[in-house]
Amino acid sequence: MIITMALTAPVSTTTTLLDIAASLGLEARKTDDGAGADVVVVAGSIPRGELDLPGIVEVKEKHPAFMLGSREARPRVRTIVRVGDVEIGAGTPIVMAGPCVVEDRDELIEIAHAVKQAGASILRGGAFKPRTSPYAFQGLGERGLQHLADAREATGLPVVTEVMEPDQVEMVAHYADMLQIGARNMANFNLLKRAGMVRTPVLLKRGFSATMDEWLMSAEYLLAAGNPNVVLCERGIRGFDPAFRFNLDLNAVPHVKQVSHLPIIVDPSHGTGRRSLVGRMALAGIAAGADGVIIEAHPRPESALVDGNQTITPEELRKLTRQCEAVASLLAYTDAPLSMVAGD
Ligand code: PEP
Ligand code: MN
Repeated sequence: MIITMALTAPVSTTTTLLDIAASLGLEARKTDDGAGADVVVVAGSIPRGELDLPGIVEVKEKHPAFMLGSREARPRVRTIVRVGDVEIGAGTPIVMAGPCVVEDRDELIEIAHAVKQAGASILRGGAFKPRTSPYAFQGLGERGLQHLADAREATGLPVVTEVMEPDQVEMVAHYADMLQIGARNMANFNLLKRAGMVRTPVLLKRGFSATMDEWLMSAEYLLAAGNPNVVLCERGIRGFDPAFRFNLDLNAVPHVKQVSHLPIIVDPSHGTGRRSLVGRMALAGIAAGADGVIIEAHPRPESALVDGNQTITPEELRKLTRQCEAVASLLAYTDAPLSMVAGD
């Protein structure tokens, strides 16, 4: 049940609703409609007779299980997530770029300058890496986080990096501007709960065999634990064709825009696995309505320690960021095209 209050509703209505839900043994959370009015979501139903309270303007019984993340909870306003001074979901697609893995301090700073010059506004780089093989390079750990902080200092770019364990959330949040929860950890609910307890923005990647609802329920863990700063990332799902490492699922983008108010970006690097496909699929993601892209970039992709095959150069990135801007302005980058398809 999603209960929306008027802007002028007394605070007591919200607290009373939360008390009633608690007395009925129902989980409930307070959120807002994005325009300042309180919204209370309840996992279950409060009898109508108990809802005769001042300031309630709407009671929705029909809504997705991911209540806080749903359009029903925030029908008029989309969430904008601020990372440093970068706004994700505000209408201008943003580019996050950098190496798959942080390898070396000076090289990272070189890459950070190069991606900034190429038009990126957020630096990516893994310090804790979820590798398929236990024998593969696992990342520099906290030292890598320190290098990311140094690269931010040198360039002013905010940084996004992966956190893999609940107990590392505070430490990674200490260094980073945005926490990445990777595809392999999308359903690590203890990690989601901990990342929900900080206010640091979270980039939640879709698990490569996760359904839309499973992914949005993972986002719900973050929101329900108190962190409203969630950005979704479509990074490709498992297909049958070895020609591609993964298949970037662009259906996800307009779908998420229809059912959720959260911003969504795409990752065509992991979503294809091939550098020659990255540019076109990034543009396709923007055309599908994505709020940005995350791209693996390195000045010498062939010598990158991890994911070199899908890594582009800063020169290629520069062309790509210009093309993304061109596609976005061609579409006038509003929600208007999406409202035409709403209700499918
Ligand atoms: C990454 O961004 O380098 C990464 C490991 O991503 P994913 O979790 O999508 O595989
Ligand atoms: Mn990678």
